[in-house]
Amino acid sequence: MPLIVQKFGGTSVADSEKILAAARKAVRAHLAGNQVVMVVSAMGKNTDMLVSLAAEISENPPAREMDMLLSTGEQVSVALMAMAIVSLGHKAVSLTGGQIGIKTDSSHTKARIQSISSERMQRLLDAGNIVIAAGFQGIDEDLNITTLGRGGSDTTAVALAAVLGADACEIYTDVDGVYTTDPRVLPEARRTSQVAYDEMLELASLGSGVMHSRSIEFAKKFGVPIHVRSSFSDIPGTMIVDQPESLNRAVSGAAVTKNEARVTIIGVSDRPGSSMEVFSRIASENITVDMIVQNIGDEGLADISFTVLKEDLPTTLDAVAETVEKIGAKGFNFDDRVAKISVVGLGMAHQTGVAHRMFRALADARINILMITTSEIKISVLVTHAQMQEALRIVHSVFELDSDPANDVPTPSPPADRTPDALDVVARLQGMEDLTIDDISLDESQARVSINDVPDTPGVAAHVFEEVAEAGVMVDMIVQSFGHDGMADMSFTIPKGDLDRCVEVATRLAEELNCGRVTNSPQIAKLSVSGIGMRSHTDVATRMFEALAAAGINVEMVNTSEVRVNVVVDGAQGEAALRALNDAFADTLR
Ligand code: ADP
Ligand code: ASP
Ligand code: MG
Repeated sequence: MPLIVQKFGGTSVADSEKILAAARKAVRAHLAGNQVVMVVSAMGKNTDMLVSLAAEISENPPAREMDMLLSTGEQVSVALMAMAIVSLGHKAVSLTGGQIGIKTDSSHTKARIQSISSERMQRLLDAGNIVIAAGFQGIDEDLNITTLGRGGSDTTAVALAAVLGADACEIYTDVDGVYTTDPRVLPEARRTSQVAYDEMLELASLGSGVMHSRSIEFAKKFGVPIHVRSSFSDIPGTMIVDQPESLNRAVSGAAVTKNEARVTIIGVSDRPGSSMEVFSRIASENITVDMIVQNIGDEGLADISFTVLKEDLPTTLDAVAETVEKIGAKGFNFDDRVAKISVVGLGMAHQTGVAHRMFRALADARINILMITTSEIKISVLVTHAQMQEALRIVHSVFELDSDPANDVPTPSPPADRTPDALDVVARLQGMEDLTIDDISLDESQARVSINDVPDTPGVAAHVFEEVAEAGVMVDMIVQSFGHDGMADMSFTIPKGDLDRCVEVATRLAEELNCGRVTNSPQIAKLSVSGIGMRSHTDVATRMFEALAAAGINVEMVNTSEVRVNVVVDGAQGEAALRALNDAFADTLR
């Protein structure tokens, strides 16, 4: 018999009528011949209410007791849901995370799932029950209640779908699918019919709060197709799948991370290991770092800039202050009035010109880009907080995300092809949310060009990358450092064969725009470590830096995404770097 997991978010169970409506959906699926597992969130804003209650009692409540408190929200709604199903004349049993056997680690308020036993659920299903599982919670080794982090019911739902080998995982929420950007922020956002796991992973971690990003890690790892749809209408919704049917646009979605902060460490000695010190200290606090840019240092000194979430800024600054002293850097500064605007799309990997279209659109609106980083399927720019809304609108519109996509095909039924080795993976991985590395690779086909002291004014990036594109050169990685004294550094990688042509263009531009020196490396080595959980496991980049530093290799450029961390090192050291990374990740390679 087919098995369906249906997850209902807070707004979908906000009152008794909505609970009954959700119950009817489950009953309908049951009557249609499916076994049904419902995963339910706390009612409405109940979790927020519990959080504020705790804040009234204590400034710094113990994390264990927070979990004890927050888990009650879901306990209320599963009980009510089971009563609703029974009132409709069907059998139902509600279960807490502990009763299901969702084992997690002990990191309270952000616990990771280690294993789930499917036995009890399967027994109840086989006896004709609809099983109602509490979302967001688990239990640790000592039977303490844990929670998975805000929004974590999505992760419960996808994880249950994975262990039960469900045929479908439906996420019922208050929007009718995944939109090109948050429709509450930009009303002109459009629903997309299909999104790839990799795109959704990026979007979720960049601020598209419709899905908990760890739920997508599960979906990708275990091949669970996800169907996001409205609790309140029958609109077909959005499928999140491995390979969307040919959506041939470069950009699928845009996102703004409003609560971003920039930190710059000044005057770091440009030798192997300096960046490692900083980032390993921050990673040890479980803080995710993004937009790491190191400028090419004068006199052997470099500035390193990166962004963290604003809520992580105090801890980050403490860590930075400590390391600045230790590594003998000159100092540091920060800005918490910035926002990160990103565009994401699988199509970008095969199309040129995406970056300069984005830069041009922002330049025409006189929006200054404070920093740039790119990865294979994502371009992120940092702008001031004051300009974020406008920047998002402009970027959304330049990639025509506000117009009806011509190929917005109707949502097909979920593909049944499950990752063949999924169960094997479950068996092998002790922790279901452990880091998995798929591949470590070396690319020796590229060269680097850098323009130093570029005026930090709107339009410069647009101008540079338009001219480079005009010369027929395809750019891969782009970074623009945070400016100092009104000047920023810009570096990018290109195919080796295009180096002369590109240096010519860059030299002309540097003169025209009053920039500093143009430098280049005719041969660089780009190393990529790819897998699942690359950013949520905050120590991946650090492990790379550590391994390279130990081998005496200096990192020249970095970019990180949900599925990949890329570093650029000197061309002569490519093979040695590859060996160092293979050793460092030997235990996680699958
Ligand atoms: P639930 O309680 O059902 O889990 P959430 O509030 O967590 O619901 O997620 C749904 C909300 O996510 C929407 O109301 C919407 O404002 C927001 N959202 C952010 N980005 C997107 C996006 N790209 N597409 C759809 N919704 C988005
Ligand atoms: N109730 C929890 C929260 O509000 C979990 C969830 O809804 O996904 O964060
Ligand atoms: Mg949610």
